[in-house]
Amino acid sequence: MGRDLHRLAERRRFVLAGVELPSPKGELGHSDGDVLAHAVMDALLGAAALGDIGELFPPTDAQWKDADSMKLLALCADRVKKAGWRLINIDCVVSCEEPKILPRREKIREALAAVLDVELNAVFVKGKTGEGLGPVGEGLAVEALAVCLLEKNEN
Ligand code: MG
Repeated sequence: MGRDLHRLAERRRFVLAGVELPSPKGELGHSDGDVLAHAVMDALLGAAALGDIGELFPPTDAQWKDADSMKLLALCADRVKKAGWRLINIDCVVSCEEPKILPRREKIREALAAVLDVELNAVFVKGKTGEGLGPVGEGLAVEALAVCLLEKNEN
């Protein structure tokens, strides 16, 4: 499982799995702030016991500044595959007050399926709100959760 949270700020793009959503605010972050890509990376790395995103791509390292998180996700997926694991499925939840996830959900699923090299029906993404409560509910942050199932290859 993976979890991530980013502050929302003006003059930032709101990006989920590389897909830009129309929004007055976007994710603040050292990289592009792609909260969903980050949660998916941690889910994959954790399930394969290969470390976590903070270890592999430390925010103190200048080479990851404004990094394209989908490229980092591709690196993680490759690492997991090379360690002998196959992704069976992955499910995600993105929580924010706005924008709405549903209008862009299929694009987001397609982007994840492509980078993870799995069928579309192995990837799902759900949008939730914070019901006005906490940093998500107050529109200050966006949170993503991801859970995945990996299978170890026999040989
Ligand atoms: Mg992050």
